[in-house]
Amino acid sequence: MIDDERIEIIHQGYGSSGSYVLYWMQAAQRISCNHALEYAIREANRRNLPLVVYFGVCNDFPEAGPRHYRFMLEGLSETLAGLKAMGANPVFKLEPPEKGVVKLAAQAALTVFDKAYTAIQRNWRKQAAASMDCLVVEVEGEVIVPVRTASHKEEYAAATLRPRINRVRDRFLRKLDVSELKNTQKLDWECEDFSDPDAILQRLELKSDSPATVDFYHGGTSRANKRLDEFIEHKLDFFADKRNDPATDYCSGLSPYLHFGQISPLATALRVQHADSPGTEAFLEEFIVRRELAVNFVYFNPAYDSYSCLPTWARLSLEEHASDPREYIYSAEELEHARTHDPYWNAAQSEMLITGKMHGYMRMYWGKKILEWTRSPEQAYQLALHLNNKYELDGRDPNAFAGVAWCFGKHDRPWKERDIFGKIRYMNDNGLKRKFDIEAYIHRVNALRM
Ligand SMILES: Cc1cc2nc3c(=O)[nH]c(=O)nc-3n(C[C@H](O)[C@H](O)[C@H](O)COP(=O)(O)OP(=O)(O)OC[C@H]3O[C@@H](n4cnc5c(N)ncnc54)[C@H](O)[C@@H]3O)c2cc1C
Repeated sequence: MIDDERIEIIHQGYGSSGSYVLYWMQAAQRISCNHALEYAIREANRRNLPLVVYFGVCNDFPEAGPRHYRFMLEGLSETLAGLKAMGANPVFKLEPPEKGVVKLAAQAALTVFDKAYTAIQRNWRKQAAASMDCLVVEVEGEVIVPVRTASHKEEYAAATLRPRINRVRDRFLRKLDVSELKNTQKLDWECEDFSDPDAILQRLELKSDSPATVDFYHGGTSRANKRLDEFIEHKLDFFADKRNDPATDYCSGLSPYLHFGQISPLATALRVQHADSPGTEAFLEEFIVRRELAVNFVYFNPAYDSYSCLPTWARLSLEEHASDPREYIYSAEELEHARTHDPYWNAAQSEMLITGKMHGYMRMYWGKKILEWTRSPEQAYQLALHLNNKYELDGRDPNAFAGVAWCFGKHDRPWKERDIFGKIRYMNDNGLKRKFDIEAYIHRVNALRM
């Protein structure tokens, strides 16, 4: 069963005379435990129609560079092969998706969208649905608790969202039953060959000033599942105590896979729940409450990608301290190339440049120091978001916007007032030295260069 709360009719359409069911794959770039795909299969079976699965790859997605594209293309290559094997008709193209999907919908009995939360994703869907004549249904599978079931408004902090999520969490933590596609008729739509992601990457001709690909993370559902297996086997038991320690890295490494929808949040949460480990609840807190707080933020706050999203107390306090003298001021270029006086910050920035993923605890320290070393809080905010989204494989995610905003007071409370930070929570390198073997983190990052 797919919970009713996950399903929304977003365009009524004029009838159901089309010759196939169309699923526009976008947020959930996978086959397994994909609520939108499952809904499309069931509707195709009910109407005895074949299934078309469309994916359009544009070459100008905001802030995306070769490292993001290649990770995504690696995943799409695996997904495309799986769709063929199940008897669906994949139509994967190099074109603006919000336009390509409209052409295919002209002959569809029903079009299914998967739900996403950032402005560009929502606008694409809105624009596409407005040009379609058929019934359009959106299915939400990238969260455990559907965003509007969890809350009907922007939540103040994890403390206010947590009870709402926990009240209904177990109702949504249920396995998704999967159906077999019955009508496997082959249709005549052309599909690009995605078997060689690097060849597709070259054809996309991305802007040359974007950061290059990385070799530390490769995309795809199989790799995501392997990571999850290893995490459950070797790290989950220690997650509660050690997840914040950058020297040892007991994190899952799943965020890039989650960002591209290559692994299902529901399937992941169920695996971790069934592992029944001492780390299970700590993981589910981050994975459900914190992750879905970010979704709530992006969904309900239209200014989520700018300084103006901050709560009034934070902005007022930062403004009061905007002209406080700064001991260090670095240019965007110095920060980007990890050229500060602080070896820990440089290591964090380098980890992101080299691998495409900075350790979670260091992300907090990293963002706070950009605030401290930049001329104004607005400038710091923009720069932190820009660097995050340019270099992190999981950048541009709801978590990216919420994470950067948190460094500037979002989802937090006022703390003891101090220079530059005002009432924003402060972090310093003494904290890193006291809590962790932070020199070991530097060694770990240095080893990546070899
Ligand atoms: C300044 C800053 C920038 C950030 N940028 C991003 C980003 O671009 N993309 C991104 O996905 N996350 C971002 N985060 C949130 C968090 O740091 C990452 O989700 C986490 O480090 C990802 O690594 P992991 O999958 O190994 O995490 P794990 O520790 O293994 O956690 C498992 C999953 O739980 C969720 N999670 C963990 N911590 C958080 C958190 N604090 N908030 C929300 N969800 C969380 C994520 O989905 C994560 O994949 C940012 C945080 C900060 C402070």
